[in-house]
Amino acid sequence: MTRSMGLHRLRISHAFALLVTSFTVLFVAVAVLLWHDQQQAHAATERLLQQTLPEIVRNRQVVRNLEKIRQEGERFFALGSPQESQQALFVVMVVANHPSIREHDHAAGLAQEVEHFLSQASLQAQQEPHGLKSSYPAWHALSQRLSLLVDDVSVHGVKLASADLGHMSQSMQTVRTALVVALVLVGAFLLLLSLMLSRFLIIPLQRIDRKLSTLRVDQPAPIYPTTRLVEVHSIEEATQRLHSSLQELEHARHQLETLAHFDAMTGLYNRHHFMERATVELQRAQRYAHPICVGMADLDHFKAVNDNHGHAAGDVALKHFAQLLRETLRQTDLVCRYGGEEFAFVCPESSLDEARAMAERVCQCFASQAIELPDGTRLQATVSIGIASVDRRTLEQALSQADEALYQAKRAGRNRVVPART
Ligand code: GH3
Ligand code: MG
Ligand code: MG
Repeated sequence: MTRSMGLHRLRISHAFALLVTSFTVLFVAVAVLLWHDQQQAHAATERLLQQTLPEIVRNRQVVRNLEKIRQEGERFFALGSPQESQQALFVVMVVANHPSIREHDHAAGLAQEVEHFLSQASLQAQQEPHGLKSSYPAWHALSQRLSLLVDDVSVHGVKLASADLGHMSQSMQTVRTALVVALVLVGAFLLLLSLMLSRFLIIPLQRIDRKLSTLRVDQPAPIYPTTRLVEVHSIEEATQRLHSSLQELEHARHQLETLAHFDAMTGLYNRHHFMERATVELQRAQRYAHPICVGMADLDHFKAVNDNHGHAAGDVALKHFAQLLRETLRQTDLVCRYGGEEFAFVCPESSLDEARAMAERVCQCFASQAIELPDGTRLQATVSIGIASVDRRTLEQALSQADEALYQAKRAGRNRVVPART
């Protein structure tokens, strides 16, 4: 195909493989990202459940116990009975040694400091009557530190929880983004795939289908617009090869038909084909009771023509007579070379008189025309013709009757037409 020379063609399979590979790589990247973020969200949840929530509960206990220590400290200095102060000191000592306080470094230190301070204050109160009052400012400072530690421990729990929740929400946000990206990728992939399918496969195949459905041997070969795809181009070329094969086949079929139906030398029907066609004509005429006649023609003294002028001259005479028959008989009449220098014909829709008139014309024309030979010499020849009306006879019977009439014409002196007696 000259129109496609120099054009770099792509394979559809390569184009699709490229598309699928690129999208697979992108999908895998998004999937890995999703998996990673999902793992992070899972780790944050686990941390929240396993570490942060228990720690918040522990902190809550620490806060409650510190608060208790502070309240009991206040009760210690509340100027109640000495028994009440001793009870408060006892509660402070019990709470300061509670495991929740002992496990928390800052709380344990401060609780011991309070415990020690209150023990000293109690001793001092027993020695001096106004000892408690003088210790109160120092207790106030300790109480302030207890309040500050309570705030610190409470805020620490909230910070821990909010850090974990922040990690979780960040991971969820990334997962959402990755899902949106994956959806967009799927959409883009499907869109691109359908565009490629339509442009590279469906439209060219529809075009080829249209060309194939209108492919005809008597029409020129299909022409396609330039395509860059190897597979489509191969199919297009195959349809063009198919077209030329069809043309060759049609040509061969035509030649075979000519050989099977026609006499090679005269171009008239051969005997076999004539008998087939004539039988059909006879059946039609007999069904509708229409007149139909047959005739047999035989060139006179043809052996002498061959002997005197040569076989080639005889052939020229045969062709000349065949041409005369073609020109004189009607288009609807059937005529064949029956064999050698004998010819047969069928005249549908003709009475015996009409067929006779036609045969007379042939006979007279042939006798009156000189046949010009290749060497320039001229040859005169005559023909004898017998005709018969078919009526209810078969083709063979009718031809046999015409043949009999032909030999009567020969016996009567040749160069004449004799109708068969009915
Ligand atoms: P009649 O008037 O009685 O028909 O005499 P005739 O010589 O025509 O009859 P005959 O049957 O004796 O001779 C027929 C001749 O036709 C013999 C043969 O050489 C010749 N012939 C048959 N076929 C061909 C052909 O294809 N070409 C040529 N040149 N001659 C042929
Ligand atoms: Mg003969
Ligand atoms: Mg003859």
